[in-house]
Amino acid sequence: MSDPTRAPELTARAAALDAADPLAAVRDRFVLDDATVYLDGNSLGALPAEVLPRLADVVTREWGELRIRSWEESGWWTAPERIGDRIAPLVGAAPGQVVVGDSTSVNVFKALVAAVRMAPPGRTEILVDAATFPTDGYIAAAAARLTGHTVRPVPAAEVGAAAGPATAAALVNHVDYRTGRLHDMGGTTAALHAAGALAVWDLCHSAGALPVALDADGVDLAVGCTYKYLNGGPGSPAYLYVRRELQPRFDSPLPGWNSHADPFGMAPGYQPAEGAVRGRVGTPEILSLLALEAALDVWDGVTTEDVRAKSLALTDFFLDCTAALLPAGRAEFVTPAPHAERGSQVSLRCAGAAEVMRELTARGVVGDFRPPDILRFGFTPLYTRYADALRAARILADVTEGTA
Ligand SMILES: *Cc1c(COP(=O)(O)O)cnc(C)c1O
Repeated sequence: MSDPTRAPELTARAAALDAADPLAAVRDRFVLDDATVYLDGNSLGALPAEVLPRLADVVTREWGELRIRSWEESGWWTAPERIGDRIAPLVGAAPGQVVVGDSTSVNVFKALVAAVRMAPPGRTEILVDAATFPTDGYIAAAAARLTGHTVRPVPAAEVGAAAGPATAAALVNHVDYRTGRLHDMGGTTAALHAAGALAVWDLCHSAGALPVALDADGVDLAVGCTYKYLNGGPGSPAYLYVRRELQPRFDSPLPGWNSHADPFGMAPGYQPAEGAVRGRVGTPEILSLLALEAALDVWDGVTTEDVRAKSLALTDFFLDCTAALLPAGRAEFVTPAPHAERGSQVSLRCAGAAEVMRELTARGVVGDFRPPDILRFGFTPLYTRYADALRAARILADVTEGTA
């Protein structure tokens, strides 16, 4: 068993930090138990309590009783834009620029092809974050093949400097999913624009964990998933941001009927709608969408600045706990120490990482393993307590010591 009498000053610090935490009460908006320390909200956010009653009503009344009438009477048809506007403040976007639907992978495809089609003529390459989450890289390669471009992988921090007269667009992950490194959205976007290229950002590991300023940073297009820090549930639909000035030129590679100017006119020819709707494709995933809408209620009265402050304090505290408790040399910090470069996770490189994570999970500390040797712990400020961070570090110390 982990020994709570070891480093008692950490226990006192955790208690003081929890007592002073302005977000402490937000945890009650989630279905969680104290048996598990859940440090995997960056893969699948916990269940917000509001979702179950809301989905029960959607299924029994809106679907069960109103049936087809709900497309209009229950606001189903306009849910993609309505829920996009709920996400907009979390990513620093004014209304009318975010639409929800399809997976992140599909939205990467829409965004990247559309970006390339908006780039100045004669450009031949797409830059891709070399450490990107794999699906983004696969889709970028397919988008390049379809549009007659080449893909050039570049480390995310060097994308701005690498852009030149041949660059049509770049696709960059705001936070690296493996290391937790946060990249400079404003600076990189400005450098891309100076080279005449468009900036496409993937917000999967940043939105909901830290402030994102899409409008202020001049980002052209962005995508993100909603089942991580936005707690929308397994497979909940992703979102697509298209900067307002670019919307009239957004030429979707998947121009389904939901993005038509008059979808129920059933015209044989395609005429794109105005605004964010142009990013839609086909019939929206209503059950998942409305679960997400209910899940977004947990953000009422919560600012992304408060979330960021707690995220940094939590990850700092976890780093202090692991430094104090882990046997020397057993794990190496991969996540950058400077706050300006840190997302909301702590990644540790450790021998036998897969086995360590299996043992941690068996002992109620849920994080995840990323090959070949990374232990990844996601800190979701809305429901993770400082005491949880300490408990996780104590159990990790035990497991890595092999003193089970
Ligand atoms: C989680 C994640 C995805 C997931 O894509 P799906 O299409 O939802 O499976 C894509 N990109 C990044 C950077 C991610 O972190």
